[in-house]
Amino acid sequence: MGQLIVQKYGGSSVADPEKIKSVARRVAESAAKGHRMVVVVSAMGKTTDALVALVDAVTPAPDPREVDMVLATGEQVTIGLLAMALQAMGRPACSFTGPQVGMVTDGVHTRARIRHITAERIHAALDAGKIVVVAGFQGMTESGDVTTLGRGGSDLTGVALAAALKADVCEIFTDVDGVYTADPNVVPEARKLARVSYDEMLEMAALGAKVLQARSVEFAKKFAVPVHVRSTFKPDPGTLVTREDHSMEDVVVTGITHDRGQAKLSILRVPDRPGIASLVFGGLAKQNIVVDMIVQNIGRDGSTDISFTLPRGDRQRAETVLAAVAKEIGADGVAADDRIAKVSIVGVGMRSHSGVAARVFSTLSKENINIQMISTSEIAVSCVIEDKYAELAVRALHDAFELGKEPAA
Ligand code: ADP
Ligand code: ASP
Ligand code: MG
Repeated sequence: MGQLIVQKYGGSSVADPEKIKSVARRVAESAAKGHRMVVVVSAMGKTTDALVALVDAVTPAPDPREVDMVLATGEQVTIGLLAMALQAMGRPACSFTGPQVGMVTDGVHTRARIRHITAERIHAALDAGKIVVVAGFQGMTESGDVTTLGRGGSDLTGVALAAALKADVCEIFTDVDGVYTADPNVVPEARKLARVSYDEMLEMAALGAKVLQARSVEFAKKFAVPVHVRSTFKPDPGTLVTREDHSMEDVVVTGITHDRGQAKLSILRVPDRPGIASLVFGGLAKQNIVVDMIVQNIGRDGSTDISFTLPRGDRQRAETVLAAVAKEIGADGVAADDRIAKVSIVGVGMRSHSGVAARVFSTLSKENINIQMISTSEIAVSCVIEDKYAELAVRALHDAFELGKEPAA
């Protein structure tokens, strides 16, 4: 008896008709082994970026509902093309949009969360012996409005369908052949990891390793979905994202990540009294703006500066909100800086090893890189630095923690 397999192919894997045909051949190979196949695809190449640019060209402050109406179109092209490529090879196949497979989300447009999946039409199509092709990244609200799941959201569609269908595995096919100790396009010495724990992968994804969307990893962990990250263009096995086991703890640092998609905002000379932080961050939360690192300086003469980082795309909206808050509380004003990057080291072994943060700081200092902000979690240390040093910092840290070498058994 074959398995039920969910495969997800990212934008670069379906960038042109030839690539779509070669994905179809790969899917057909799995189907020929007797597996039941559900295939999730992204928009072709950089289509979603182009759609975002179209939106920006029309208005700087679009209604998020209408943004989703535009963004969701990219994936619909790919599903139709892949289904017909499979049919042309004599393989029965059928495409569905997110709404058609009952991918029900909340109403937070452009970053909706999945509420439940009915998947009735998927079951029916599988029972009819078809290969099912589903549009990634999209869903709909209870009342039928189209939503999208945040950038990189096709990974989430894949994992969520794998959970809902109780699939044997969710295979994420992409342009690299697995999860590496650092972005292999930045660090040529980076090493492919055979296995990585859900927690480490979640932290790496949240801290900038875009090979998997962070929310998809959260979902995979919650429903114990085995995720296999592998190459669309090569047959080799990739990286298994899985439950933590004891051997993983021996490795102190598993990976280095960097995130160049953030901005820093500071609100200057804020009165140093109770309730101010709640006013500042309450105003941002109401606008669904998620802030990341927060630093409040030591108060002097009754006032203090508060700085925080946030996704660069939210910077303008946040600045508007903050300018109003600054006026209300009598702060001096707001300063913004887009030229920052966050570099992080991640590893479950950090829980039981000391001196890791100190080594990060000394490595950056040896390169003369100034640290603007620091944050730590149980299994990660992050530093905000000037953007132009991002790649240098990642390489230096990769070197300092000797991640290019196979860890001792
Ligand atoms: P897709 O279009 O298939 O979803 P993405 O571009 O979203 O692909 O993710 C793949 C990219 O993630 C790779 O090309 C690579 O540059 C980047 N990446 C960042 N960090 C890592 C890492 N630690 N391991 C592998 N790839 C990484
Ligand atoms: N097409 C969407 C994006 O570019 C979703 C995805 O590719 O995962 O963000
Ligand atoms: Mg992606």
